[in-house]
Amino acid sequence: MPDDIVIGLEIHIQLLTQAKIFCNCSTDYFEQEPNTHTCPVCLGLPGSLPVLNKKVVEFALKTALALNCEINRTNLFHRKNYFYPDLPKAYQISQYDKPIAVNGFLMVDSGSSAERRRIRINRVHMEEDAGKLIHLERDGEIVHSLVDYNRSGIPLLEIVTEPDIQSPEEAIDFLQKLRAIVQYLGVCDGNLEKGSMRCDANISIRKSEKSALGTKTELKNMNSFRAIRRALEFEIVRQKKLIKNGESVLSETRRWDEANGRTIIMRSKEEALDYRYFPEPDLLPLTIKQEWIEEINSTLPELPEERKERFITDYQLSDYDARRLIEVRSLGDYFERAAQDYHNYKHLANWILGELLRCLGEENANIETCPISASKLVELLKLIDNKTISGKIAKDIFEQMFKTGKSAAKLIKESGTTQISNKNEINGIIDRVIKDNAQTVQDFCSGKEKAIHFLVGQVMKHTKGRAQPDLVLELLKERINKPY
Ligand SMILES: [Zn+2]
Repeated sequence: MPDDIVIGLEIHIQLLTQAKIFCNCSTDYFEQEPNTHTCPVCLGLPGSLPVLNKKVVEFALKTALALNCEINRTNLFHRKNYFYPDLPKAYQISQYDKPIAVNGFLMVDSGSSAERRRIRINRVHMEEDAGKLIHLERDGEIVHSLVDYNRSGIPLLEIVTEPDIQSPEEAIDFLQKLRAIVQYLGVCDGNLEKGSMRCDANISIRKSEKSALGTKTELKNMNSFRAIRRALEFEIVRQKKLIKNGESVLSETRRWDEANGRTIIMRSKEEALDYRYFPEPDLLPLTIKQEWIEEINSTLPELPEERKERFITDYQLSDYDARRLIEVRSLGDYFERAAQDYHNYKHLANWILGELLRCLGEENANIETCPISASKLVELLKLIDNKTISGKIAKDIFEQMFKTGKSAAKLIKESGTTQISNKNEINGIIDRVIKDNAQTVQDFCSGKEKAIHFLVGQVMKHTKGRAQPDLVLELLKERINKPY
């Protein structure tokens, strides 16, 4: 019987509020001078008191509603006690047994089949982030550790799934869908590399779906989808091997070691009890009015799944193309801007998902800073449609547009790469090709149909790709069948 993989995820997303969760300090801390965005509250100085930022609650509600959760109209903040230098109060204000939302779900497309599966969401809760330790090393040894409290008090949402995920593919699909949702809601930028979306995974193996859950390990330190996938895959192999050898999987926290492609032990897992949770005495229980929940619910923006369906209906795109276009909100926006002026939607989608994403990937750039605006892409596509340039040349032009930011028309003018549509000019080249390839022409005449494609290729080579292959083929056949 095949072993059953059981995965649960814990995701932290950093909320895009202007101020921190319990004080007025700015959340814009990325690459800022250390300890410049701090105050007595987020430094945990004695006598300072937290005041809850309403925007954090609004963002939490938006997220919870988009994840089909039930809202706890009365919810509580707790102190989670632990000692660490990046946590000046020696406790984190978090939520415990009365979080803001519970019992949600998100549908994923199962990796192995077209079947959609419901992944239950156990809870969504609000909490504050800790500061950041910066270790200074000399000869591989840590000589100093410095603390930057700019991140201390940044609002986070923690989203915890039930152990419903059955494969690394499904975990990635869940995370991509979640990321798209929080981006669409405008509550988080979803950047894994920058750490504004972080994911820990619990994973265990059991004999079958009906048997008891195996001992799980918790995986940390994965800051890309690729790392998450690799860490899960590694852990599945490691645990299966232990079980096969009659050894036991230990309950522990393991860190993904990207350089060596493996998980390594960080610590044996601490129990919830160790945190000595108790209700935060400086904050009242939070009571949320039903009207506010309804107001937020009625003003939720179009979410990724709805947009995907609309793309399929309005633009006649395939499920696959629509899904890829909506995955990142700004990519879908780019498509829609272009689609206003260009109605061959399939062609447009092909260019965006093909050339555009390829160039962005190569330059490690993103769509927001893309040097080719939607209108510039439309201009290029129209030049292909009216046969000013061939599709092949358009790809070269596109690359130059990407590098220089110039428009297609300007680049075509500069390089003289307009398409040759003058039949006499093409016939001249055809005559030369026929003369140089008498044997191939002979082969074609004696029934080898495919030989003609070689001749088309030769003509294209002589025109440096500036002729239209269809026209070349037509003229070649005409010329061979009716020599003049
Ligand atoms: Zn502060």
